[in-house]
Amino acid sequence: MMMTRRQAIKNTALASVVLATLPGAMAQTNSSLPVTTSGPFTLPPLPYAYDALEPYIDTETMHIHHDRHHAAYVANLNKALVDWPEYRMRMNAPFIEGLEVLLKDLNSVPENIRTAVRNNGGGHYNHSVFWQMMKPAGGGEPTGELAKAIGTNFGSFAGFKHQFVEAATKVFGSGWAWLVLKDGKLAIQSTPNQDCPISQGAIPLLGLDVWEHAYYLKHQNKRADYIAAWWNVVNWDFAGDKFHTATNANI
Ligand code: MN
Repeated sequence: MMMTRRQAIKNTALASVVLATLPGAMAQTNSSLPVTTSGPFTLPPLPYAYDALEPYIDTETMHIHHDRHHAAYVANLNKALVDWPEYRMRMNAPFIEGLEVLLKDLNSVPENIRTAVRNNGGGHYNHSVFWQMMKPAGGGEPTGELAKAIGTNFGSFAGFKHQFVEAATKVFGSGWAWLVLKDGKLAIQSTPNQDCPISQGAIPLLGLDVWEHAYYLKHQNKRADYIAAWWNVVNWDFAGDKFHTATNANI
């Protein structure tokens, strides 16, 4: 069926509205500018260049993962909160603290937006910390207090690594593997979808996104290759700082 000129104009106008509404989700992948949405949440820029984790994490994956997937979680989280000014107001704290309030007590979130907050709030939080849990020229082993605690809890760094790889490998479908602090102890756990350890009373120290969108372009179905490559970009300083803060907080 031929499209009339009027229809074509209408479609173009609609497309513009969608673009204006979802700048994050529609952002060009070659943009290095931080993508913003209507708020209260915004997409934080990567703490390094898109190609900084090469050759372990490829540039194109970083563009799509950050500019499209993470941006979509932010946009959808904002959308879910549009009609809930009370929750939008609670989000006025610096973003990560504000989001933690919601994720810590999902049952306090109104039922009709709870799933959206769980999925998209979790997605936003998990990815925001994930970018910081990696860095160029990372890898190696943790030092200081965290190294000592890993030795105590898992026998050795190799023992920890073995268990973490097993957890990441065994996630069925989409999810995450985590090193967390729970009840004052280190533990390895996995979460399905975008569920966040914070909702389970745990503090995430290190996390690995094993959704296919995190590795499929470079590794296709070979998740094990992606996991092996990821160890080379782990930011142990971040995990160590989180551990130090968490173990010294009176909570
Ligand atoms: Mn992801």
